[in-house]
Amino acid sequence: MPDRASPYWNEAAETRPEEEIRDLQMRKIRRQLAYCHEHSPYYREKFRQIGALPAEIRTWEDFRRLPVMLTPEQYKEQQEQSSAEDGHPYGRILCAPLREVIGVASTSGTTGRPTLTAFTRRDIDSTNEVLARAFWRIGIRPGDTVLHAFGLSMWVAGIPLVRALEAMGARPIAVGAEGGTERLLLFARLTRPSVLLCTPSFAEHLIERAPEVAGIEVGELGIQRIFCCGEPGAGLPEVRKKLANAWGAKIYDFAGGPWGISSVSCHHDDYQGMHLLSEDYCLHYDLIDPQTRAPMELSDGVIGAAVFTTYDWDAAPPVKFLLNDLNQIHTSPCPCGMPGKRRRILGRIDDLLIVKGINVYPAAIRNVVNGFVPRVTGEMRVVLHEPPPRVTTPLHIKIERGAGVADADLAELERQIGARIRDLLRFTPRIEFVAPATLARSTLKGKLIERMYQPS
Ligand SMILES: [Zn+2]
Repeated sequence: MPDRASPYWNEAAETRPEEEIRDLQMRKIRRQLAYCHEHSPYYREKFRQIGALPAEIRTWEDFRRLPVMLTPEQYKEQQEQSSAEDGHPYGRILCAPLREVIGVASTSGTTGRPTLTAFTRRDIDSTNEVLARAFWRIGIRPGDTVLHAFGLSMWVAGIPLVRALEAMGARPIAVGAEGGTERLLLFARLTRPSVLLCTPSFAEHLIERAPEVAGIEVGELGIQRIFCCGEPGAGLPEVRKKLANAWGAKIYDFAGGPWGISSVSCHHDDYQGMHLLSEDYCLHYDLIDPQTRAPMELSDGVIGAAVFTTYDWDAAPPVKFLLNDLNQIHTSPCPCGMPGKRRRILGRIDDLLIVKGINVYPAAIRNVVNGFVPRVTGEMRVVLHEPPPRVTTPLHIKIERGAGVADADLAELERQIGARIRDLLRFTPRIEFVAPATLARSTLKGKLIERMYQPS
């Protein structure tokens, strides 16, 4: 157990120099590829189709050149196939013997048949380790009472997070989201937690409901930190500010849970993305162009489709798994002073727009516009006059002006936002200002597109 004052749960692992990270990754990648080839019929067939053998993958470049081996559709299919043919639902990428699968969670699939994540004993230990790094970073220490309000029933953010909190010596109060507002507030008042784990929309919901249900403001509950995941809200300035003010707490954005993934935002007041905490377990920055699937060079601020590989996982390890997420990777030092690369999740691959041959992501535009708060509210829309992804006219953006901005200052504001978008995103928009609070605050998922064309 580290010293309580240390900023790191595992200092050696979390401050490893880049060259050592790369060596360790390659050693683990080579071992994982050989393991998957040996034990999974799915991967054996993939290697055969590619015309490669794991032993031929010796360098980082060799690995980067390997094509996508698994997509979300294939992930579902190979689980259906193992259900039908192998007598278990954990997929044909299952490498560990079935009797060694002792943990099962369900990823937050949208509809229909759930997709499953399997854990061996070692996978559970790995998950506990990488989650402890995130909990420690946000200030959770052994003995702290932590109110858990993510869905408990099968969700990756459910029991796996509770297990990890116990393993690091914290005291989880696992009410879950299923218990409802009243039950959550009951246990909050009874056990006096200093940390709350929940989705940003649930934290927002509680602000309104606590006075009605329990006659108390959320700010009186004594919560000092809120650990959010499952939705992008905790990365959006407006949502962060609302939650921080109402709860009197610091807001953190987390992504991870299965397969050794762990990334969390830092103490810096402005959102800087999520620090990658588990580069010794898995890879987030093997990026490809979502259109051409060509590998993209890693540089500060690069945006691409994430091809995810876990290289220290026993049960059913995703390798070269094309996620639907668009990731932006920052390699420059974070102003918070903590080491490591950071990532932002910028929405889905389907959000991609192509403006005169340039890939443009609505969430990346929003990030630029957010830099102008309070002269703008942060709320904006990309207006499409034709079906995406190709945009032939200048991209039309509606931006809510800030409440205090005079008409006379709008032309200068337009010039500055336009210039920043040109510098960072390499296209010239057509900007239309609208009055504050005129764009609907529909959901935290942030609907960024307004469609002006007739759907075909
Ligand atoms: Zn930071």
